[in-house]
Amino acid sequence: MANPSATVLLDWYDRHARRLPWRVSPAQARRGRRPDPYRVWLSEVMLQQTTVATVGPYFRAFLERWPTVGDLAATDLDAVLHAWAGLGYYARARNLHKCARAVVDQCGGVFPDTPKGLRALPGIGPYTAAAIAAIAFDRPATVVDGNVERVMARLFAVEESLPVAKPQLHLLADALTPQSRPGDYAQAVMDLGATVCTPRSPKCLMCPWQRDCRAQALGIAESLPRRAPKAERPLRRGLVFWTVRSDGAVLLRRRPERGLLGGMMEVPSSDWAARKPAGLDQAPVTADWRELPGRVNHGFTHFKLELTVLVARVRKNAKAEGVWIMPEAFGDHALPTLTKKVVRHAFANM
Ligand code: SF4
Repeated sequence: MANPSATVLLDWYDRHARRLPWRVSPAQARRGRRPDPYRVWLSEVMLQQTTVATVGPYFRAFLERWPTVGDLAATDLDAVLHAWAGLGYYARARNLHKCARAVVDQCGGVFPDTPKGLRALPGIGPYTAAAIAAIAFDRPATVVDGNVERVMARLFAVEESLPVAKPQLHLLADALTPQSRPGDYAQAVMDLGATVCTPRSPKCLMCPWQRDCRAQALGIAESLPRRAPKAERPLRRGLVFWTVRSDGAVLLRRRPERGLLGGMMEVPSSDWAARKPAGLDQAPVTADWRELPGRVNHGFTHFKLELTVLVARVRKNAKAEGVWIMPEAFGDHALPTLTKKVVRHAFANM
């Protein structure tokens, strides 16, 4: 069996490249047009842990509002967090803003064109640096995301489980990366993984690498890459204090900058504990708390969360840490998905 050839994949990409709003087509790339590094960077940060379909509308909205990295750097963080709401992982939005400012302040508004230069910027790790260097600047950087890992594991029938197999898959991807058209090649492997070499039911008959693919020849393609079994996510529980003032305003507060949902607005809540249930001593005010029926469930990467919502009405002059907001003005604030779930639950059950 021959080694897979980058040229074969590039020929396929010329005919089947996905049209994505941050891309230039292979034909445009051949005529020397390169994508705007700002667009490539924005799309890559948005695409971390999120699908292309979800990212599309956010990407367009960001570009319309902040057409250049300078525009994004000049806006305030709250506006960025607000526009980001729904994409999750808010640390990325904070880093996005920090990175825009670093590009403007330290690099004269121009993105560095090497992986090393890009990695020096806030929030840009090895994968994102390689992706921007390859896609925006046509550098022969090896870009390895989940799609590429899957394609390499199958092409070379790597049976070692992830994450142990990662370095080996990276070496294999590195050896295939061509010096010619590396930007198109990086996108071609991603496209192959997303549309043909899919996690389930890979479409091997349509694959340009079918004749070179060891897993396909062995009949084990769909079982690769293997993964070490995931540990069950632990469950944490907490209380949420839905505090309503006599004029109808509800108490919200900003979470600490560091940590989960850092800097985002929340309905005040207790600690999220694995064992001991939280108590009323963590309530923002002393009041007559009543428990609402049902629970609010939310999944974080490392744990599941189950929240019980308590409600109390307080006087107009009640003192509590946070901001009192009328429900009709909630939309003016950057509320993360968890807070939106709590708001919906409170209104549905009061
Ligand atoms: Fe993936 Fe099948 Fe192509 Fe192999 S032949 S790379 S398993 S789609």
